[in-house]
Amino acid sequence: MKKKDNKLKLTKLSELGEFEVINRITKNFSNKNNSTITGIGDDAAILKYSDKNVVVSSDILVEGIHFNLTYMPLKHLGYKSVVANISDIYSMNAICSQITVNIAVSNRFKLESIEELYFGINAACKKYGVDLVGGDTASSNKGLIISITAIGAQDSNSIVKRSGAKLNDLIVVSGDIGSAYMGLQVLERENEVFKVNPQNQPDLSQYAYIIQRQLKPEARKDVINYFEDINLIPTSMIDISDGLSSEIIHICSNSEVGCDIYEDKIPVSEELMSSCEEFKLNSTTIALSGGEDYELLFTIDQKDYEKVKKSLDLTVIGHITDLKKGMNLITKANQKIPITSQGWKSF
Ligand code: ADP
Ligand code: MG
Repeated sequence: MKKKDNKLKLTKLSELGEFEVINRITKNFSNKNNSTITGIGDDAAILKYSDKNVVVSSDILVEGIHFNLTYMPLKHLGYKSVVANISDIYSMNAICSQITVNIAVSNRFKLESIEELYFGINAACKKYGVDLVGGDTASSNKGLIISITAIGAQDSNSIVKRSGAKLNDLIVVSGDIGSAYMGLQVLERENEVFKVNPQNQPDLSQYAYIIQRQLKPEARKDVINYFEDINLIPTSMIDISDGLSSEIIHICSNSEVGCDIYEDKIPVSEELMSSCEEFKLNSTTIALSGGEDYELLFTIDQKDYEKVKKSLDLTVIGHITDLKKGMNLITKANQKIPITSQGWKSF
């Protein structure tokens, strides 16, 4: 394609002007949802959700704070920004149908870079069936800032909040956790090596899974669809963006309950185990405290256990207890350790 030629002459955003930049980055998006009446092109988008409740969530990502472009390709950044946002909609047991994207860019960025970012945004929109219906474009003095708002909907009696966990409910997690954090450790280590020796071509193949979990995470729309298929409404739910321990604390404090989580039940990948060994880190600590896995953590009534048991991808890791019992990790050695938001402090 044209990309090779563009590499030779990059296009300054000021050459095009704001409207042409918006046209260029949004021209490859098309709407797929009936709830999108009017998308990009007017002063505001028009959405229509007949009888459902609307669920809205926003996030802001700042270069140097939330991402590092030396090892995060812009295409992946675009994809991951969308995933992180729509994951918040799924964690309400709702389906995401629209996003708006606000960007502020310094003159360091050329049109081709912003197009890369939007290529990733578009890939995520297609994968998850989400319409880009608007946004705003501004310049910044330094670096890149991305803010996304995600919009979704669900029947009012199917929406799941953090606050619904009840005594004796089972605590369940999707997929495996901790890998995204170890992927980041590998990328940061290679980045330090690169600074000293730019000739070095690292072989990262043995870290493929954990790096992918860091650079190209997925949101668990499939789990929300599965709940619908098996007719299950969790009693509470949250997505794991900051690590298992801080998320279970959110569920327990919002629900005014305690919990017991079993260390030997926490699902971790083989690659997480081997990289933790290499970095001399405790894999349970990483699973509890590492973030950005975007898996779902939820509670179910005991009567729904049979429904969940059928899925290999859902793991029961503990149960809800009385508020007075507190939040605890039961270790492999059968010790009870209080869970704190920074799990490693307890070890
Ligand atoms: P306004 O002056 O009303 O803010 P803009 O010229 O900024 O309008 O935007 C024109 C249209 O393009 C609007 O529909 C807006 O939502 C959309 N838009 C602007 N910037 C972006 C962006 N970065 N990503 C997606 N859509 C955008
Ligand atoms: Mg505007």
